Amino acid sequence: MTAPALELRDVRAAYGRIEVVHGVDVVVPRSSVFALLGPNGAGKSTLLKVAGCQMEPTSGCVHIAGVHVNGASPEALARHGVCTVPEGRGVFANLTVTENLRMMTYRNNLRPKDVEERAFARFPRLGERRSQLAGTLSGGEQQMLAMARAVTTEPALLLLDEISMGLAPRIVAELYDLVGQLAAEGIAILLVEQFARTAMAVADFAAVMAQGRIECVGEPADVADAVSGAYFGEVA
Ligand code: ATP
Repeated sequence: MTAPALELRDVRAAYGRIEVVHGVDVVVPRSSVFALLGPNGAGKSTLLKVAGCQMEPTSGCVHIAGVHVNGASPEALARHGVCTVPEGRGVFANLTVTENLRMMTYRNNLRPKDVEERAFARFPRLGERRSQLAGTLSGGEQQMLAMARAVTTEPALLLLDEISMGLAPRIVAELYDLVGQLAAEGIAILLVEQFARTAMAVADFAAVMAQGRIECVGEPADVADAVSGAYFGEVA
């Protein structure tokens, strides 16, 4: 049996002495989308940081494709094929679209030309704006750039934090189409999202998190009621 792309086992995480994730299990199979939903402050972003080794759990284990990676460096994690698109996108506003894409080539030993070709084939709109400063792109285009950068590293596991943040529903739908395509191409995706309905439309699995615990997990249809409850009826 192949190991899942990501497995979090009984993970606890804290800021200083305050524990905000209280023993969480998550399994993301390969080539699947797992949506982590729930209200503000539930601990979703913290869990994503633990999965991406940006934060060490106080206890519990992080396994990437069956390998225990607690405490791994970002470089080691990149070698395991993990790539994070952080909340706020993390693009360099004062660099052009092309320069932002090239940043990924230094760390991953890729040829700039290959990276650009791949990115512009998938995102023609970025190709049209290749010489434009990233800070002058629309919010949706900046999110595309952040995702294009991540995809060029050919990750096995993509961690996406609130890709819909501040974007119009039409753009969010476009980005989620892409999320579905990436999973179909074999990438496992763990995403945190406030737009529950949009995320559930492409998710294979979803979990509702509240107050540092997973309240409910399953296929989207199985957790729909719990999602409505978590958002007090506000399922976006
Ligand atoms: P949101 O959607 O609002 O980001 P979330 O579910 O992603 O919510 P987290 O950001 O993981 O939740 O936050 C969980 C808890 O940890 C919250 O109570 C938050 O205030 C706290 N927290 C988050 N980041 C820090 C930090 N850097 N230092 C201290 N406490 C933090």
